Amino acid sequence: MIISGALAALCLSVAWDLQREARARMELRWGVVLAVPLLAGGLIFGLRAARALLSPGTIVAEVAADSGLNVAAAFGYLIIALVFQLTLVALVVTRGVVELRRSSRYDALTGLLNRRAMQAALEEQAQRSRRLGEPFSVLMLDADHFKTVNDVQGHAAGDRALQHLGTVLAAQMRDIDRVGRWGGEEFVVLLPGASLAQAREVAERLRERVQALPLRWQDRAVALTLSAGASQWSEAGDELSALLARADAALYRAKAAGRNRVEAEPAPGTPRVGLVS
Ligand code: GH3
Ligand code: MG
Ligand code: MG
Repeated sequence: MIISGALAALCLSVAWDLQREARARMELRWGVVLAVPLLAGGLIFGLRAARALLSPGTIVAEVAADSGLNVAAAFGYLIIALVFQLTLVALVVTRGVVELRRSSRYDALTGLLNRRAMQAALEEQAQRSRRLGEPFSVLMLDADHFKTVNDVQGHAAGDRALQHLGTVLAAQMRDIDRVGRWGGEEFVVLLPGASLAQAREVAERLRERVQALPLRWQDRAVALTLSAGASQWSEAGDELSALLARADAALYRAKAAGRNRVEAEPAPGTPRVGLVS
């Protein structure tokens, strides 16, 4: 009774942990399937323990006899041990796959989308806009004098500053917006549905937030600012590379004009009215 009861408890608790892990940490919707064999094992042992408790005589006779049931039970033990091992292997492999999937999409330092994932999001948006005429804009952001942050505060502070910038930017985004680390101390923001004037407002808000929230580093406040360039997808046969080049040109102007500012670059043939600061 004790052995069967202990095995039942073990199977059931491992089954519970498995399905919880699979659902919560590995985002598997059918994580409970992983736990089914152990659940079945737990129930079988549980039944045996209950029978041993209610009528010990029959179980003692069963166990002592050289019966088919005992041979089956021995096989049962073996199969359960095997299932246990295979489930663990499946768990380890699944965790590896999930980890790989995550690291192929997200930047390790900031947790933002990485350049490849951002590029894919931009391409998807461009296709949708070609099909449906949905407007969208992009921002290209670059931390100002970031080399000085590294030189004066150290590289670890620089890393921490990039994480801080990532957090501040992400906190300002709507659900449909996307923000990614484009490389180094440069970020790209995708704003579905936004006009150039709206993109400019968003960039201005981001710029102000970053300025208002210095990095706290070893009891010091490290001032950070960023410059931004905005551009809008043009319905007249635009290309992603041209859109990004316009945002980059605007960013360059923001840097040249003194940094910690926002510039917007209209598509060729569109008026600049209301965009010149
Ligand atoms: P500007 O205002 O013109 O953009 O000046 P800047 O100093 O920010 O630009 P520059 O391109 O001269 O230097 C970028 C610096 O960003 C240099 C590089 O070491 C630093 N950087 C890029 N990626 C990382 C990183 O992952 N961690 C740290 N700590 N620094 C980084
Ligand atoms: Mg910079
Ligand atoms: Mg740069």
